[in-house]
Amino acid sequence: MPDTLLFAPPQSRAHRTPHGHPERRERFEAVLRELDASGLRARLSLVKSGLADRELLRLCHGDSYIALAEREIRSGRRFLSTGDTHISPASLDAALAAVGAVCKAVDSVVEGSARQAFCALRPPGHHARPDHGMGFCVFNNIAIGARHAVANHGLERVLVADWDVHHGNGTQDIFYEDPSVIFFSTHQSPWYPGTGMESETGEGAGRGTTINCPFPAHSGREQVLGALRRRLLPVMESFRPDLVMISAGFDSRIGDPLGRFRLSDDDFSEMTSLLQEVADQHAQGRVVSVLEGGYSLEGLAAGVNSHVRTLLA
Ligand SMILES: [Zn+2]
Repeated sequence: MPDTLLFAPPQSRAHRTPHGHPERRERFEAVLRELDASGLRARLSLVKSGLADRELLRLCHGDSYIALAEREIRSGRRFLSTGDTHISPASLDAALAAVGAVCKAVDSVVEGSARQAFCALRPPGHHARPDHGMGFCVFNNIAIGARHAVANHGLERVLVADWDVHHGNGTQDIFYEDPSVIFFSTHQSPWYPGTGMESETGEGAGRGTTINCPFPAHSGREQVLGALRRRLLPVMESFRPDLVMISAGFDSRIGDPLGRFRLSDDDFSEMTSLLQEVADQHAQGRVVSVLEGGYSLEGLAAGVNSHVRTLLA
């Protein structure tokens, strides 16, 4: 059985953004080039996946938003009317392929055909809210994957850990009243999108299942790894997730143009190990990692190298 799968839907290349936009196709190319050049690619099993169908999107998004996104992308508009997300005619297939890859990754690790999966894809997803694409995101790839695990595979508890420098407001919104998913986020604050205060902890049946750890600019290892150890690990002892998912954003790495955190490649490795330990303890080692941000091509490549190398260790 292959230990770790790679999903890299080729449609990710075709999602075009204007010249000079930080969320660009070269990000995807840089990740794949790094995996190839480092030899890591040869140790991963590349799996093909298809486009997500509407039923999967409906796990997290409203019909009217799905129809709006489809309509606006097909119409040739250059950005979604709901937020700061540039689109091009091929963006619908790219967004559907991104969701399709994450759901197939969930299928694979839950059904036991592999232990872990890394999904290299774009557009990213963690800012996409139920009725509101924004922040370069169209559909919430990781949230749909997490809910797919619960709704269609019968898992009871999923952890979504988000170390992107930006708060995953879309993921938070989707699971705010849902006790089956713990959303844990470390992020810069104040910073885009302005949410993710410590006081936002979930509501109703989901009270306590949203854990926000906001930190000021220039935070790094001490804050982010400290939060994982002190805030996440104790909760995992009682929550005991059946699946660990990672919103792997590398804009929290030192030098990123869209973030002011100072995480190093070693820190990404340590964070990966720590989440793997949670998965080993409670979730039969099942980890599905999904690319979010990371806007320095060199930094993104180095961060992904460190993350994937640790997954494979
Ligand atoms: Zn980000």
